[in-house]
Amino acid sequence: MAKVLCVLYPDPVSGYPPHYVRDDVPVITTYDNGQTAPAPKAALGFKPGELVGSVSGELGLRSYLEGLGHELIVTSDKDGPDSEFEKHLPDAEVVISQPFWPAYLTRERIARARKLKLALTAGIGSDHVDLEAAARAHITVAEVTGSNSISVAEHVILTMLALVRNYLPSHDVAVDGGWNIADCVSRSYDMEGMQFGTIGAGRIGLAVLRRLKPFGLQLHYTQRHRLSADIEQELGLTFHPDAASLVGTQDFVSLQIPLYPSTMHFFDDKMLARMKRGAYLINTARAELVDRDAVVRAVKSGHIAAYGGDVWFPEPAPPAHPWRTMPFNGMTPHISGTSLSAQARYAAGTLEILESYFDGTPIREEYLIVDGGGLAGTGARSYKLM
Ligand code: NAD
Repeated sequence: MAKVLCVLYPDPVSGYPPHYVRDDVPVITTYDNGQTAPAPKAALGFKPGELVGSVSGELGLRSYLEGLGHELIVTSDKDGPDSEFEKHLPDAEVVISQPFWPAYLTRERIARARKLKLALTAGIGSDHVDLEAAARAHITVAEVTGSNSISVAEHVILTMLALVRNYLPSHDVAVDGGWNIADCVSRSYDMEGMQFGTIGAGRIGLAVLRRLKPFGLQLHYTQRHRLSADIEQELGLTFHPDAASLVGTQDFVSLQIPLYPSTMHFFDDKMLARMKRGAYLINTARAELVDRDAVVRAVKSGHIAAYGGDVWFPEPAPPAHPWRTMPFNGMTPHISGTSLSAQARYAAGTLEILESYFDGTPIREEYLIVDGGGLAGTGARSYKLM
């Protein structure tokens, strides 16, 4: 029987379960690209809309796994040599982790994980796993592709509006009993007519473009695989061959590509210097796509107007992380892809992937990142090992 080691973020400080402000979440059965939402055969161990991404929620997996005689360990203690994660890793056949509270599966940890067969990301983005080491060890890496793409796209729009309208400082003025409108609006603009460029137009990047169309922005993109002429025409997109040729004219730049060795610190001092003065940089993809301190320099010097997103390195971010106190930041903890709506889908997708694994049936192609000793499925399209 297998040991399944599941790392989730801690419960709310106010206790579990939380008080739910709504009674249901809409049921989404198909995504924009025609992919169907997760449809496990086994009963879900939770009601959609419940908090299942934290330790006590257990992604609703306990009854399914224990019903098959497997052992489920759930912990949030993931870092350092004395952590629960390290203690159980050598015996684990399956590791489940979330990008919001990632159990980093480094090369060294993979070497110690002698029984590990499946590293499952309950969410999207598997860069917390050393994919090359996983491929060499013939570990399958899978994620619940599509499950939270719209959740993140909505967060991008939210962040853009918050930054361009100077919403967060203006809200503080209201809360603090003030009314100085001039202070609020001296950094406030409309998005209408501005230029927006996305680096990466996959599931999230394209969803952001679609949502921005009605706002009346001019839309630009660059990515490894050019979109179809139909989509370019529908959205009035301008394609750029690379990021360097896109950034100089954009009022907004949004990062929507995965993190892998050659995209690490893609946005360094040089790339940031190419950006238009007063541009906004949004990053909900991965923190290490940018050079942390170069971003601080660009914001503090006023070269870029603001930086926003929800991804940090490491996670959880240390209290002294400079983005916490950097001026003109629209940062949140890593929350965009783990709304209660998203959790219902990625928990169901985790169950679907586990069913495939334990039944010995193929895991959906779109869920695969690494399989059979190399990149596979979505991984082959979106990642590079070097
Ligand atoms: P996706 O695989 O659908 O799209 C990524 C696109 O990037 C692909 O189409 C690929 O062709 C393109 N690409 C890869 N490398 C490139 C490069 N160097 N230059 C240009 N284009 C390149 O992925 P997605 O579902 O849209 O997610 C994108 C990323 O967002 C994920 O890898 C993940 O890191 C992140 N994400 C974050 C959250 C969150 O909660 N903040 C949630 C989901 C995903």
